[in-house]
Amino acid sequence: PYSLLPTPYSPHHFLQGIPASSGIAIARVFLHTPAPIQIQQYHVEDVETEWQRLRIAIQISKEEIQSLLSQACTQIGDAEAAIFDAHLLFLEDPVLLEAVHQRIFQQYQNAEVAWQAVVEELVNNYRTFEDPYLQERVADIVDVEQRVLRLLTGFQSHIRTSDSSPDDLNPSEPAILIATDLSPSETARLDPTKVLGICTTNGSAISHSAIIARRLGIPAIVGLPEEVMHLSNGAIAALDGDSGRMWVNPESEVLNALEAKRNTRQAVHQEAPAIVFNPAVTRDGRRIDVFANITGITDTEEALRFGAEGVGLFRTEFLYMQRITPPSEEEQELIYLSVAQKLGNRPLIIRTLDIGGDKPISYLNLLSENNSFLGWRGIRYCLDNPEIFKPQLRAILKASPGHQMKIMFPMVATVEEIQAAKAMLAEVQGELRQEGILFDEEMEVGIMVEVPSAVMIADKLAAEVDFFSIGTNDLSQYVMAADRTHPLVADLVDAFHPAVLRMIQQTVQAARTAGIWVGLCGELASDPLSTPLLLGLGLNEVSLNPQSIPAFKQAIAQLTGEQAEAIVASALQQDSAQKVRELLVQVGSRE
Ligand code: PEP
Ligand code: MG
Repeated sequence: PYSLLPTPYSPHHFLQGIPASSGIAIARVFLHTPAPIQIQQYHVEDVETEWQRLRIAIQISKEEIQSLLSQACTQIGDAEAAIFDAHLLFLEDPVLLEAVHQRIFQQYQNAEVAWQAVVEELVNNYRTFEDPYLQERVADIVDVEQRVLRLLTGFQSHIRTSDSSPDDLNPSEPAILIATDLSPSETARLDPTKVLGICTTNGSAISHSAIIARRLGIPAIVGLPEEVMHLSNGAIAALDGDSGRMWVNPESEVLNALEAKRNTRQAVHQEAPAIVFNPAVTRDGRRIDVFANITGITDTEEALRFGAEGVGLFRTEFLYMQRITPPSEEEQELIYLSVAQKLGNRPLIIRTLDIGGDKPISYLNLLSENNSFLGWRGIRYCLDNPEIFKPQLRAILKASPGHQMKIMFPMVATVEEIQAAKAMLAEVQGELRQEGILFDEEMEVGIMVEVPSAVMIADKLAAEVDFFSIGTNDLSQYVMAADRTHPLVADLVDAFHPAVLRMIQQTVQAARTAGIWVGLCGELASDPLSTPLLLGLGLNEVSLNPQSIPAFKQAIAQLTGEQAEAIVASALQQDSAQKVRELLVQVGSRE
């Protein structure tokens, strides 16, 4: 009754957003829809008084930020609290204040208009910067801008009177907060005992708001479809911050699966330290490498904290998002280098740009396609756009000396594609040699196996590369012919389906025969139920969301290789994904 989402809305249907903070939340919805601040423009006579008005608003803003800062230090840690130090500095910036002063004294503008105009100019400047870090700071500037405007216009400044009082952001009963966006200071005001999860339609996983949510331990999804804003207060929602999925009025099956995942996480987190930093070894001594999926530097630290032994998938397309030009070669080199340095001697698999499909990037001139997942994406786009692709290859190579870096091409469907990608890599290597720039001459080259054709010709592809990494997210959608973002066919896109499992098995066998190693980096690995399957299928490595690593390692320690193989043999003979899950639950409860 609460949902305005299209019906029929079956149990497996969910809304897909971008994972921003891991964890599971199940609660009622609490919508945050603040009225926009209304600003009026008028001519001022008494410029001194107008200037004073602005000074007072800035002074109160500083006091508010100061109080947030002291609260933030205890709740979210010093590093994150430094965000608010930057907000304070912004309010003291003499150049900014001088510009506002001029508008008031020389153009007789009222304080609101003068302040807004100057800050907006600055924001527009920031938006043209290439550095994603600087672009992300726009959210911080707007945050401070709004704070001052709220005070000038007499809008309530939302300071909470006591820790337990409900306000526009913190509901009286625990709930999932839904908003178009949250500023960093709004996020820092959240009470994790009241706000159990965050869902926004805007925002990015590398924003300060996302960073604060992670520190507060509040699961969060950003970039959800607009329709979440049409939910009614009180609808029940469930969110999985690892996969970026949100369910509305979920049925018991989904709830049970999410609760099981939450319980496993909690149990493992309590016991984590001992298990986390040891390799994943079965009771009979079989080892599987456990790597992490990352999108940038912040996740790398997180991955190491959760016991990652390397990075199995660096989704570099995130470096290209939320900006207006591609990151330069130098910028990319720096990022790859910092991630590699954080990893020390651990392997780092960098996947080249995988855009298209559900990851559009405005400035890359992608086409509007009827079937974007079947269109110009991943390696197809990169091979056709060497001016985008080559700087990335150069950046990876230049960052490689002294590190265990590997390069991986996404969406490979044919032998010609991998040959063309390798030819372009060789061309770039030739250029670097001529320029006298060093790079790792032995760097391993691999591909994602995520297109059914790649599985069928895995023997041929294996002859071209050093490793495979199976991408079950795309493989499931292509094997089952069901769009991975389409809510009405979501239950078909299930990596537990025997059709997908058989594809994994076939790929592993081809890799073994060819003598190359094979990993898996799709969401399947982050589901604790899948652990015996991954072990029994004979993968050398799995790469999963950092937060899922402890549970995975723990599950491996309880298994034997033989047991896992028997489970796989039986799973491959089931009729459906549902039956495979039932089988896994059954064997799990017997242990
Ligand atoms: C996959 O397809 O399984 C994968 C890991 O890549 P992505 O989800 O980024 O497409
Ligand atoms: Mg993929």
